[in-house]
Amino acid sequence: MEGDGLANRRRLVSTGDLPVGDVVEEQMRAAHERYRDVTDGRVADYIPALSCASPDWFGIAICGVAGAVRAVGDADREFSIQSVSKPFVFALVCDAIGVEEARARLGANGTGQPFDSVIAVELDPDKATNPLVNAGAVATTSLVPGADVDERWEAIRSGLSRFAGRELVIDDEVYRSESGSNQRNRGIAHLLAGYDRIYADPEETTDVYTRQCSLLVSARDLAVMGATLADGGVNPVTGERVVGEDVCTKVLAVLATAGMYERSGDWLFDVGLPGKSGVSGGMVTISPGKGGMGTFSPPLDEAGNSVRGRLATTDLAHALGLNLFASAPADTG
Ligand code: GLN
Repeated sequence: MEGDGLANRRRLVSTGDLPVGDVVEEQMRAAHERYRDVTDGRVADYIPALSCASPDWFGIAICGVAGAVRAVGDADREFSIQSVSKPFVFALVCDAIGVEEARARLGANGTGQPFDSVIAVELDPDKATNPLVNAGAVATTSLVPGADVDERWEAIRSGLSRFAGRELVIDDEVYRSESGSNQRNRGIAHLLAGYDRIYADPEETTDVYTRQCSLLVSARDLAVMGATLADGGVNPVTGERVVGEDVCTKVLAVLATAGMYERSGDWLFDVGLPGKSGVSGGMVTISPGKGGMGTFSPPLDEAGNSVRGRLATTDLAHALGLNLFASAPADTG
């Protein structure tokens, strides 16, 4: 009976495995070599502390669902997680209040607008966006359970740490810098309050959101965090269950829809996997049932997605056979 249950569940899982470790590492090295000298894109400077990043930094890491991590280049260099925090905080909220309640309160449709759009809120009949753009992400942060701001912040810090498998800490300089330049996010939070679409105090919530964006991670951390979403919510390195299986399925669906902002359609066309970018140059991509990939390279395209991250992820998704939409005729022999 128990065996039958397992077999049934296996049928619900995206099938196949990552290629063997040596092949993964060889392809990662080739992608790093191919794109390390690309000079397209610009390092973000609207948060002043981010402008100090070197445009040369470039790291790639992959963590399989068996827990093996492979890394090349600047994969251990730390940077502020920024928007890559959004799917993981969304996952924690889904786990706490249920996926349907989270969808009803936050929305799940792509906006087709830039990440910090105000008009996206106005255009939606329900004044909801999705958890992966700033408006929906601030609303998501407001739903994190906790009696006060400190408890909600600690729930986020410790929750994201469980995804990464180590204690994450805040970059104080980035936090201070972003706190002094986040007028637009505060404006979005107050706009949402006018529509009852934020579920805690707008000023306090923007502060917690700014702290969340300032947590330090590496490409290696992002690979492990992504692999946790690929592994039904269990961190494959620590073995700890972080969120439920149903939560992962829904988070990955919203990531596929909106993880790369207004470029999400192009991303899915090229890569065929759910992924999320952040303005400091981090990117996480998830291959359900197989593993997670983290990349870091600060120069961004006009939509705010890492140029080298996009190029390397596109090649690796293809070389490692990860595209979710790939098929071949059934062998009916
Ligand atoms: N903290 C950033 C902001 O809110 C995150 C945006 C991003 O990474 N795209 O503006």
